[in-house]
Amino acid sequence: MPKVEPQRSCLGCGVVKDKSELLRFVLAPDRTLVPDLKGKLPGRGAYTCINKTCLQSAAARKQFARTFKGEVKDAAADHLLLQVSTLFAERILAYLALANKAGKVISGSDMVMDACKKGHQVGIVFVATDISVDIGQKVLDYARQCGAECVTLFDKDRLGAVLGKGLRSVAAVQGSGFIKVMQQEIRKYRNFADGGVC
Ligand SMILES: [Zn+2]
Repeated sequence: MPKVEPQRSCLGCGVVKDKSELLRFVLAPDRTLVPDLKGKLPGRGAYTCINKTCLQSAAARKQFARTFKGEVKDAAADHLLLQVSTLFAERILAYLALANKAGKVISGSDMVMDACKKGHQVGIVFVATDISVDIGQKVLDYARQCGAECVTLFDKDRLGAVLGKGLRSVAAVQGSGFIKVMQQEIRKYRNFADGGVC
């Protein structure tokens, strides 16, 4: 029989979902609220949908203090939003670094467009936020044509640092086991940042 995933309700909107479809928060021993993106930290969890609207609503209505029965530190909405966004971004970049170590990343606009043109499996294309508009548009067009997911979340400096190189305006992850897991993380991040309705 398939394992049934436990469900929890969102502190923002009250909707009940599978735990993996929610953001988990735990309370540190000093009563600081800690986002637990992997859902692995010990202790009781509090949950919201993976969108900033529900997180904001939960924070504004002091739902974390209610769940953890007492004062909770670092539970202001702005702080939590920034913290969760940063953690999501770091996770995506960590996967990019891993894929790079596994030899599954190519970088540079010409190389990536060439791979798209030749029909090499290109799963995800990262285009730097500070790339020149013309080149950026060209790369995005190529990427979409070959069915790749496009990510424009990071600047050249950040992409280069992850790949252990200088500035990098374009990087692509090629067909591998990394694609699916990265796409999941990217979708969660987008859902969170857009404040999508649950
Ligand atoms: Zn919700």
